Amino acid sequence: MSVTTEADVLVIGGGIVGLCSAYFLLKERSRVFVLEQNEIWSDSSGANAGTVAVQNKTSGLQPLALMSVDLWRQMQNDEQLDLGFRQVGGLRIAMGGDQVRELQQGWSAQAEQELSLRWLEHGELRRFAPWIGRDVNAAVYCPADSQSIPLKAGPALRKAVEQLGGCVQSGTTVIDIEPSGDSVLVTTDQAGRIRCRHLVVAAGPWTKGLVRDLGVDLPISVDVNMLSITEPVGFLMDRVITHVSGILSLKQYPNGTCMIGGGWQGQGGFDTNTKELDYQNLIHNIRLAASVVPDLRNVNLVRSWAGFEPVMPDALPCLGCLPGEPNIWIATGARGGYSLGPAQGKLISEMILGKGLSLEGTAVFDPGRAF
Ligand SMILES: Cc1cc2nc3c(=O)[nH]c(=O)nc-3n(C[C@H](O)[C@H](O)[C@H](O)COP(=O)(O)OP(=O)(O)OC[C@H]3O[C@@H](n4cnc5c(N)ncnc54)[C@H](O)[C@@H]3O)c2cc1C
Repeated sequence: MSVTTEADVLVIGGGIVGLCSAYFLLKERSRVFVLEQNEIWSDSSGANAGTVAVQNKTSGLQPLALMSVDLWRQMQNDEQLDLGFRQVGGLRIAMGGDQVRELQQGWSAQAEQELSLRWLEHGELRRFAPWIGRDVNAAVYCPADSQSIPLKAGPALRKAVEQLGGCVQSGTTVIDIEPSGDSVLVTTDQAGRIRCRHLVVAAGPWTKGLVRDLGVDLPISVDVNMLSITEPVGFLMDRVITHVSGILSLKQYPNGTCMIGGGWQGQGGFDTNTKELDYQNLIHNIRLAASVVPDLRNVNLVRSWAGFEPVMPDALPCLGCLPGEPNIWIATGARGGYSLGPAQGKLISEMILGKGLSLEGTAVFDPGRAF
C-alpha cells in the first residue's frame, strides 16, 4: 500500500493526553494529525470524574500534578479554552482514628512541598465547611486542588487543536506501526498509510497492544472505575472532596449536579471489553458520599456508569520514547491521568521538539523502566 499522507507528528488517541500533546506541539509545528478509532473523547477522558487534584497524588506524581494544574489554569484563563476548570480548593478527609493518623502522616510528609496545606478538625473544620458530615473527623485543605468538566473540556480541546491547524480524524483505527529509518510508517483502516517523523501513542489501555508488536511489553493493568451524577440541586458543597484512602471523590458543578466517584470497581475488564456497574460496590460509594455530605441524602441519582483506567504498577506515567525507537513516543499509564493530561502533553511535546523540559526528574517516567 502506498503512503497517502505525510505528517510531522501523528498522535494516536483522541483523549486528554493525545489532544493536549497535539495542542502543545501545534504551537511550534505544523502537520500534526490526531487519529481516533471511535469518537473523539469517547473513552476514559469523556467518562471520568473531572477531579484535578494535587494532594491526593503519590509523592512521585505531585510535581507533575502541580505543573498540570498551572497548565489547566493557563489554558482556561489565559488561552480562553472553556474546559470547565475551576480552582475551588480541595478537602482530603478522614473518618475515624486510623484514617486521621494516615491523613496526619501524609500531611506531615507533604508539609515541605509548596502546597500551602492546612489541617482542619473540630470547630475549625465545621466553620470552613459547614456542609460536611459529623462522620468526618479531620481534613486537609489544599488550595491547588481543582475541578474541570470533562464534557466541556473535550470539545474545547478539539476545537483548539483544529484552530491551530491540526487535523483531527475520528473513526480511524491505527492497525500497524512500522519504524522506518528516521520516520515511522503507520497503517490505518480508513486513512491509508501515513508516514510521520514522530509518532505519539496516547491510546490509553490500547497502548499496550499497539506497542507489543514492537517487542515492548508494558505492564499496564486496567481498572474498571464507576461514577455517578445527581440531578441538579441547590448549593451543597464548594470544594473538591477526596478521601485519604482514595475511596471517594465528590464535587458539585456550577449547574448544581454532584459527581460521585472514588475508584469503586465495576464488573468486566479490558480483555473482554466490558465495563458494567457492580451494584454492591456502587451502594457503598453512594452511602459514603452521603455520610460525608449528608444533604446528598435528599438528592436523586440520574445516572451511573463505568469506564477503563489504565495504570502502571508504580502509578507513574510512561512518558518518553520507546527503548531503541527514538521516533516513537508513548504517554499513558498514570493514576489520575485526566488531571495530569496537560502536563503529560506538554512534556511529550517538549521531548519531541528537543526543548528543555518544564519539569525536572522526568527520568522516572521513562517507559524503559518497565522492562
Ligand atoms: C470512571 C472514571 C473516573 C475517573 N476519574 C478521574 C478523575 O477524576 N481525575 C483524573 O485525573 N483521572 C480520572 N480517571 C482516569 C482518567 O480518565 C484517565 O487516566 C485519562 O482520561 C486517560 O486519558 P488518555 O488520553 O490517556 O486515554 P483515553 O481517554 O482512553 O484516550 C485514548 C484514546 O485512544 C483511542 N485509541 C486506542 N487505540 C487506538 C487505535 N489503534 N487507533 C486510533 N485510536 C485509538 C481510544 O479510542 C481512546 O479514545 C477516571 C477514569 C474513570 C474510568
